[in-house]
Amino acid sequence: MRVLLLGGTTEASQMAALLAGAGIDAIYSYAGRTKAPAAQPLPTRVGGFGGVVGLARYLSAAKITHVIDATHPFAAGMSTNAFEVCRDAGIALIRLEREPWAAGPGDRWTLVPRIEDIPTALPDTPARVFLAIGKQQIGLFATKPQHHYLLRLVDVPDAPLPLPDTTILLARGPFTTQGDTAVMQKHAITHVVAKNAGGTAARAKLDAARALGLPVIMANRPSLPGDITAKDGDDVMAWLHHGADRGV
Ligand code: NAP
Repeated sequence: MRVLLLGGTTEASQMAALLAGAGIDAIYSYAGRTKAPAAQPLPTRVGGFGGVVGLARYLSAAKITHVIDATHPFAAGMSTNAFEVCRDAGIALIRLEREPWAAGPGDRWTLVPRIEDIPTALPDTPARVFLAIGKQQIGLFATKPQHHYLLRLVDVPDAPLPLPDTTILLARGPFTTQGDTAVMQKHAITHVVAKNAGGTAARAKLDAARALGLPVIMANRPSLPGDITAKDGDDVMAWLHHGADRGV
């Protein structure tokens, strides 16, 4: 057995620890989006594979027998490529898929189908928006330049931001409700923007928004191909040991 773990998430780090602890021959793969990714207890490679063709070549050359897709639920490109290549090459694939978040009493969520729909769901009058959705989709908010945006990012942006009124907060999760409540109060936030990632690492901003009575604009997840999924690392380990070869 030789495993490729597609990572970039807190859950992938937990999975890496389980694989390393079990002595399983595995490689952790980062996309290379952050400048100093978290160290892993597994051999690590960094960077895109070069689409489906590159991934197919990589899996064959590295003699990978099992792929664990532990990428972020919004990383649809990588998940789709992994699904197509593994299906065609007959390589066992499982997606580590955390439960989406669900609104509870006291939450003021507006759900929108896609990230692209978030800016129009923001008000037209100037607001103070907490934008903790990573750097890739910041440009979408250029259509609402009247707002002040608090951007929480892992690295200092390489290029000028497409938004005129921003504050940048450099931080890496996991975050706490107490910490996020303090951040929102300090910056007088009126609206919180989120992607329905699920999991615990980025949950704090939703609990903080609830505590402060703030509205949250939340994008639903993209749908992904493939129906072999696991809810946590233990499920994946059981699949590796018992289910993978039977395709369950
Ligand atoms: P994406 O749109 O699905 O991926 C775009 C391309 O990036 C892929 O086609 C692949 O390039 C490369 N890539 C993505 N994940 C990779 C991995 N683990 N190892 C090697 N190459 C990878 O993904 P994304 O939304 O840009 O996210 C990039 C990474 O950040 C992912 O690993 C994801 O887990 C992590 N992340 C994403 C989010 C989010 O909100 N999207 C949040 C937290 C963490 P090639 O086609 O060249 O192979």
